[in-house]
Order: sequence, then C-alpha cells, then structure tokens
Amino acid sequence: HSNTTRNAWDELPIRDELRGKSPYGAPQLDVPVRLNTNENPYPLPEALVDRIAERVREAARDLNRYPDRDAVELRTELARYLSRTAGHEVGLANVWAANGSNEVLQQLLQTFGGPGRTAIGFEPSYSMHALIARGTGTGWISGPRNEDFTIDVEAARKTIAEHRPDVVFITSPNNPTGTAVDAETVLALYEAAQAAKPSMVVVDEAYGEFSHHASLLPLIEGRPNMVLSRTMSKAFGAAGLRLGYLAADPAVVDAVQLVRLPYHLSSITQATALAALEHTDTLLGYVAQLKSERDRIVTRLRALGYDVTDSDANFVQFGRFADSHTAWQQILDRGVLVRDNGVPGWLRVSAGTPAENDAFLDAVRELKKEHD
Ligand code: PMP
Repeated sequence: HSNTTRNAWDELPIRDELRGKSPYGAPQLDVPVRLNTNENPYPLPEALVDRIAERVREAARDLNRYPDRDAVELRTELARYLSRTAGHEVGLANVWAANGSNEVLQQLLQTFGGPGRTAIGFEPSYSMHALIARGTGTGWISGPRNEDFTIDVEAARKTIAEHRPDVVFITSPNNPTGTAVDAETVLALYEAAQAAKPSMVVVDEAYGEFSHHASLLPLIEGRPNMVLSRTMSKAFGAAGLRLGYLAADPAVVDAVQLVRLPYHLSSITQATALAALEHTDTLLGYVAQLKSERDRIVTRLRALGYDVTDSDANFVQFGRFADSHTAWQQILDRGVLVRDNGVPGWLRVSAGTPAENDAFLDAVRELKKEHD
C-alpha cells in the first residue's frame, strides 16, 4: 500500500491526513479455500438460525420504534457470558456494545484520543488501530516488538515514557502474529502509561477465546483506565453480525456515551446477538475444534520446515519467504487464499475446517518442494 497512489477522490477537498492514503481491505476473492480474514469457517447451526429468525421476527414488529439505545438486555447477557468464561465477575454497568469491536475502538479513540492526542500500538499489530487513530484525528506512535514478536517490556516502557500517549493498545492474542501477551507485561505497560500521563490502556482481545491462556479481563479490577475489547466476529462465528463489546470500569461505559451515535445498535442486531448468546455452548464447541486445528497447522508447518510463530489465535503466522507476496500468489494459484499482512517474510493463514486446512497444507507442501 503505497502512499503515492492516485485516487479518484484526490480532486475532492478531503482532509489532508487522508490524502493519498488507501482504505483498509483484504481482497475478497472468489476462490475455493478462503483462509485470509480470520473468520470462523463454521456456519451457524440450524437451531441457532431458527432462533435468530424467531427473535428477529419479534423485533420486526417494533421496527417503527427506535431500538433500546442502551442495549440493556444484550449488555446483561454479554456480562453474564464474560463472568462465566473470562474469570472475572462483571455486570451491565461494566459492559458496552457496538457494531463490531472496530466501532468500540473508534468510540474509545473518539473519547480518549482525538486532535492533539496520540495512541500507541506495538507493531506489527492490527492495522485498524492506526487507521481508526487517523480517522479520529489521533496521532499514531508505532511501538517496538522483539524479533520473535513478543513485546519488549523495557523498550515499550521507554517508548511510553518518551511519547506519553493518551491511549495504549495491547492486542492479545496479537493479529497478525498470534502472540499472546502475559498479564505481567500488561501490568507493566499500564503502570508506565499511568506514570507518563495518565492514559487509557485498551487490551484488544478479539481472539481471546482461542488462547491457551486465561483472559486478561480480571486486570480491569481496580484499574479505572484499563479497557478490555471483545467481539462476536470470531469465537461466535458471527462476523456478519457486527457485534463487538468492551468491559471496563462503569465510568468508561458512561464516558463513551458522549460520542456514541443515538440508537447505533439496531434492534435486528440486538435480537440476533441475543439469539447467538443463547447458543454459546455449541459455538464454544466449534472454538475447541478450531484450537486443535490451529495447533495441527502449527505442527504440520514446522514439520514441513517452515518457521511458525507460536499462536494463541485462530490463525497462524508462517514463513519465512524471501518474497512473501510471490509466495502468497503461489498459494493462491493452488486455490487457497491466505493473507499478506505486509510483515516482510511472513504470511498468515486462518484456521478453517479440517478439509480447508488440508488443502492449505497440501499447497504449502508443494511450494516447499519447488523451492528445495
Ligand atoms: N481487533 C482485532 C485484533 C482484529 O483482528 C479484528 C478483526 N480482524 C477486530 C478487532 C475487529 O473485529 P470486529 O470489528 O469484526 O469485531
């Protein structure tokens, strides 16, 4: 993504910081095996599809009215889900929901970032953090990582002390590397961020359910500037639903009310998410299968001679390639779409169904043979 491309909107009086930039977007190509956007490969079970239809039908009768602006029933159920699965008791007042965790993150930056303020992330990481920063007029600071993609605590502390960011993003498990961040590291960065500013620390746990480690949710206790962000796009297999949420001190939930659009979560979205939450146990069963497929991909790739970054997510970073874009194309030529996240030498593959993963492993086995 070069910064010098000519775009159709170049003649429009757009904001200077958007000029010459490219929009976020993974190619949506029509190939047999798509393992490029960390989606859950399992369609929702039929019983859940029926339940969604039922709840949406009920909601449709009230579509002449605006939705529950505070999404009370949904936030209560999300809080119940977190309390049951993430090792810490939270309630309605701790939880806020929006259209995908991208919107949650945008609301956080609208509230705690903005013009004259900065946010930091430790890169490579989820590229939307920097893009949402740009969209909200927040300055962006790229923090360092170790060679093995873990966070270098000392270097991170120094960068935070030097730049005094208003928002610190910690992505665990990290996208695109799959790297989990331990609680000690999060706490060290939280202390550094409070000493420097104080600032908000946002733990993006979009892939939390796939981790070998416990959720970082308990860390919000007694830390009013710590926020945990989650999504139903991955573990709940509901990327099309667009439902993300956060857990934090109730003051944070109150603060984002200042920027949320009124009635931002449609009645249809709320009804659908509530139906999905009724089927949590079935959906978490798919998560367990995906975790074991993820581990199989890691083991098989290493056996084939690839370098693989330890993964706590539903995807795997593998390499290393002299030219990752060429390797991406060669895998695509074999009918498998993976992701080139622009990390030099590395590609990322999402865990799919066993058959999809076999197709991917066949493709990269052939690739290896050609190069040996
Ligand atoms: N955070 C991370 C780390 C992600 O990888 C993603 C999705 N790719 C998101 C947040 C946003 O997901 P959604 O808006 O679908 O909740």
